[in-house]
Amino acid sequence: MSITLFRVIRWPWHDLSMTPKVEKSNEEWRKELSPEEYAVLREAATERAWTGPLLEEHRIGVYRCRACGNELFRSDTKFESHCGWPSFFDATTTDAVRLIEDRSHGMLRTEVRCASCDSHLGHLFDDAPQTPTGDRYCMNSVALTFEPVDTAE
Ligand SMILES: [Zn+2]
Repeated sequence: MSITLFRVIRWPWHDLSMTPKVEKSNEEWRKELSPEEYAVLREAATERAWTGPLLEEHRIGVYRCRACGNELFRSDTKFESHCGWPSFFDATTTDAVRLIEDRSHGMLRTEVRCASCDSHLGHLFDDAPQTPTGDRYCMNSVALTFEPVDTAE
């Protein structure tokens, strides 16, 4: 299916880690994002649990980075984690996100960033044995946009 396409056009890893494809100044980001979005995406804040609008999103579709539009997740990997944030067990492609060691707040966690614009999205935990991967991408709703697929042809 479309997976093959992504594999063919993917960027080499060194390009992703060294230069984000989308680069903007803090001032530019502030203009484009709401204060809440800016705090999460550019300052790695975490939205309050159970407040995100995408928690109850159950339609078929695609989740994108709110800052740059990069496709991050698809609805078939979203699951009920009961943790208060929208959760996914896998990214659309391994190149969609960057994983970074995060030692803030006295914890060792894996931070998840958009591979395209380096914005903070949330954290990755391996505490979801009920999913095919065992992984839980714990995302902030405000870091994502949802694009429903029109299934009524
Ligand atoms: Zn992005």
